Amino acid sequence: MAPVTILLLSTLLLLAVLVNAADLYKALELDRSASEKDIRAAYKRLSRKYHPDKNKEKGAEDKFVEIAQAYEVLSDSTKRQIYDRHGEEGLKAHEGGGQHHANPFDMFQNFFGGGHPGQQTRRGPTSVSEMEVSLADMYTGSSIDFMVKKKILCDHCRGSGAASSDDIHTCTGCGGSGVKIVRQQIFPGMFSQAQTTCNECGGRGQIIKHVCPHCGGHKVVDHTQHYTLEIPRGMPEGQEVVFEGEADESPDWEAGDIVLRVKSRKEKGSFRRKEHGLYWRESIGIDEALLGFEKNLTHLDGHLVNLKRKGVTQPGFVQTISGEGMPIYESTGYGDLYVEYNVVLPQRLSPETRRKLAEVFHGHAGHAKDEL
Ligand SMILES: [Zn+2]
Ligand SMILES: [Zn+2]
Repeated sequence: MAPVTILLLSTLLLLAVLVNAADLYKALELDRSASEKDIRAAYKRLSRKYHPDKNKEKGAEDKFVEIAQAYEVLSDSTKRQIYDRHGEEGLKAHEGGGQHHANPFDMFQNFFGGGHPGQQTRRGPTSVSEMEVSLADMYTGSSIDFMVKKKILCDHCRGSGAASSDDIHTCTGCGGSGVKIVRQQIFPGMFSQAQTTCNECGGRGQIIKHVCPHCGGHKVVDHTQHYTLEIPRGMPEGQEVVFEGEADESPDWEAGDIVLRVKSRKEKGSFRRKEHGLYWRESIGIDEALLGFEKNLTHLDGHLVNLKRKGVTQPGFVQTISGEGMPIYESTGYGDLYVEYNVVLPQRLSPETRRKLAEVFHGHAGHAKDEL
């Protein structure tokens, strides 16, 4: 009986480790295949969401700490490997007994460069751009992938600009304050004191001996990031979609937002939109204008709209087809479709047609001399 129990116990232990192993990923809402970028993005998003300065819900702080601890491990390739293979226990062994976690608040500050949200933090510039999408995408709703070129904090030096933390030295010129007091004699025995920016460190208070080879000391690197723009059905023209904190990163600020102002592309010969009304110009022949017609119009999503007129249709006549306009944003209804008829006259008439028309309109056969 005893060996079975032991086996069972060890299975349970193993299970416990496996469950734990999934937890750090779960804390960042990721799976094990997550890339470094995914991990970074998840930390960025979740740590803001649960920062106790911002989120007053119960349990937010615990969640914030959990997210920080998960990021601390998963963003470090060595720790992540140990964790993937041997779980939390492996990490403890690696660090010689208990785990030492970084202060989650310091981590947050380092990551975002500024202070905590809620405090006065310098925010980076917000980038506003216009984005043109097809009217069909606004009609059906859609998601559009796009790319943004931006600056992100250098992964290698984490925005310090130094090759390693040993290369960052307190400036000896100003003692780290970034300013120098200049004493000037303005009169024998009389001095003025002026405060100037330290010329040795440029006011940063630090001197970097060896710059980071990855970013050349610029602290940020160029990066192309993919995003997905969700277009809801009937999205209003000019609606702004905000990608919070996704603009250029810098160690000096908390990144601003990317704002996209979404508009439909004007396409010649296509539908035009005015709020939830749609406009279409349909050309008909003189026979159709006089005798009536029935035809199909292909809508933005490919479905067919029946256009039907029985009597005479005057040039410029506008037919209203209810419920065939744009979907009404955040509602189930639709606007109307307005079809304007453009009557196209033939370029020339055959003698035969001309004779027949003259008979119809004038009651006698016309002369054929005006024929071209
Ligand atoms: Zn200095
Ligand atoms: Zn760097």
